[in-house]
Amino acid sequence: MLVVQKYGGTSVGDLDRIENVANRVAKARDEGKDLVVVVSAMSGETNKLISYAEHFTKNPAKKEMDMLLSSGERVTAALLSIALQSKGYDAVAMTGRQAGIVTDDLHTYARIESINPAAMQNAIDQGKIVIVAGFQGVNKDGSVTTLGRGGSDLSAVALAGALKADQCEIYSDVDGIYTTDPRIEPNAKKLDIISYDEMLEMSSLGAKVLQNRSVELAKKLGVRLYAKSSFTDNEGTLITEESNIMEAVLVSGVVLDKNQARVTLRGVSDRPGIAAEIFTALADANINVDMIIQNVGTDGSTNLGFTVPQSELENAKRLMESFDHDIGGMDYDEHVCKVSVVGVGMKSHSGVAATAFKALAANNINIQMISTSEIKVSMIIDEKYGELAIRTLHEAYELDK
Ligand code: ASP
Ligand code: MG
Repeated sequence: MLVVQKYGGTSVGDLDRIENVANRVAKARDEGKDLVVVVSAMSGETNKLISYAEHFTKNPAKKEMDMLLSSGERVTAALLSIALQSKGYDAVAMTGRQAGIVTDDLHTYARIESINPAAMQNAIDQGKIVIVAGFQGVNKDGSVTTLGRGGSDLSAVALAGALKADQCEIYSDVDGIYTTDPRIEPNAKKLDIISYDEMLEMSSLGAKVLQNRSVELAKKLGVRLYAKSSFTDNEGTLITEESNIMEAVLVSGVVLDKNQARVTLRGVSDRPGIAAEIFTALADANINVDMIIQNVGTDGSTNLGFTVPQSELENAKRLMESFDHDIGGMDYDEHVCKVSVVGVGMKSHSGVAATAFKALAANNINIQMISTSEIKVSMIIDEKYGELAIRTLHEAYELDK
């Protein structure tokens, strides 16, 4: 059995924790597993390296940044390999290049183009534990590149795909995916299993256990993905194909996104092309629009609402003012949040959304905007009721059971 394990920054945060990881890897080895272990930089290290560069300039060259940032993961890979060797295990540390990871040229946010697993496979065949520095590869010219923040998850999934590993285990300080944030709802339950699509909805909404790109890639490559803790021996959560989930639950989780601001445009000219113009302008300004709602027009005009990240509200407002001959009026609210109910079971059951609306109504929480997809119902509400709404919905769907 070939397993790719990935240990995040907190799991390798100091020398004792690296020792702890070495013991866990050794145990898996003793159980007879072949292992490729991907590591992050020690927690805080990448940020520290960025601050070093910013001491000199706010705008360091991205190519140099990659040279700098990739060093964090190399330190951990080498130390973990040394720790394993000191325990009598045969281990070898590799950089992204040595592991055969080739990327495009987009420094600091590179995409993996190909992986040649020959060197890793060779070492595995020789009985070695392969330790790989995460978050990095090399472009065609041989310059080191990095994969974007949180990119070690992506390294692990990509390597698992290239090696056709049996599974990929992502270790952090959280022991899996929960029905909601346990800091908001102490009765949140760890899920045993969740589909890739639900996970993507939950992570983009704030449950930051796995980097989103890595879940997308796992889905594409069909990698069996586990989220586990390096501090416990709990089972963790399996993220997999929906078809592998025997009994789809109605709702898997409820998520809060506090970083939302609402813009409502009133009396918008009801003519072809207006939405294209408005959202092209927002896109060109790199403003990430989330929810969009438009109603059927009456008397030549309509209302159009959308949400943006709070930090983008001022920019969005300014842009919308340039549409004044097409827009009657605008109001906006920075103090809103989005609560979402996520579950693949919604595809085949009716009444899921109504349950949410009823639960919020019972608490006198007004819903300002609603949007739905096949597996999600999202509601924009007043920011001050966000946590109450999450607890209410968690109870309404009996997620604590
Ligand atoms: N060290 C990198 C970061 O902090 C990559 C990772 O940890 O996944 O973003
Ligand atoms: Mg991470």
